[in-house]
Amino acid sequence: MAIADLVVQAPPAIARGRRLVREFAVRGEVVRALDQVDIDIVPGALTAISGPSGSGKSTLLALLGCIDRPDAGTVELAGRDVAALSRRARRRMRRTTVAMMLPHPSDNLLLGRTGHANIGIAARQRGADPALAADTVDQLRIGSFVGRHCMAMSGGEQQRVALACALAGGTALVLADEPTGALDQASAGDVIAALRRATETGATIVTATHDPNLIAASDAVIRLEHGRRLA
Ligand code: ADP
Ligand code: MG
Repeated sequence: MAIADLVVQAPPAIARGRRLVREFAVRGEVVRALDQVDIDIVPGALTAISGPSGSGKSTLLALLGCIDRPDAGTVELAGRDVAALSRRARRRMRRTTVAMMLPHPSDNLLLGRTGHANIGIAARQRGADPALAADTVDQLRIGSFVGRHCMAMSGGEQQRVALACALAGGTALVLADEPTGALDQASAGDVIAALRRATETGATIVTATHDPNLIAASDAVIRLEHGRRLA
């Protein structure tokens, strides 16, 4: 057997950032929100980006999610250099490859519709058959309440439906900004369990969080402070 066959290769990253810099001008002063950050997201893992408020977590998620562009450095998503893509191709990436979950559960949903309807809409937007989302409902164990109108759900239930929407249609990467930040501890625990179940069935999830329970439940933790990655 050749030596090369014995080398265990790490799986290729699904998202990769290199030397990422992002600056904002605030009242005539430049704030460096990200400073030379490298990041590799392993497929099938639950990764937490942790750090105090203002450390650059949301800024980093926005770059990985093709919502924002770096001032310097590169972002690769599903093997493609995002900077080289046209505006249209980036929009397609946002629609089909990567899904974003916002911190406030109700911001992720059409509250006047049922959970089922929201998941169906998300699947169709990605060009997928909504019937396939039934598996996601089973995997996340949200069947007991997904038929209700979202406005009649608790925050934790809404956030778990939002996760099902993010996954509907075979999204490669889910980016969840403070997914437990607006929840009480019991609801947060339910959301963490759902995030774990999602990765067990192959999803790749990156959170921005300072929730110690979510950090403890994650496979990998990337720590930021003042826009820099800690070793
Ligand atoms: P976190 O998510 O870790 O709390 P952010 O990524 O939101 O941190 O912000 C990092 C830094 O960048 C903060 O100093 C914040 O004020 C600044 N910042 C982020 N987005 C903007 C923006 N659109 N305009 C100006 N400053 C911003
Ligand atoms: Mg944030």
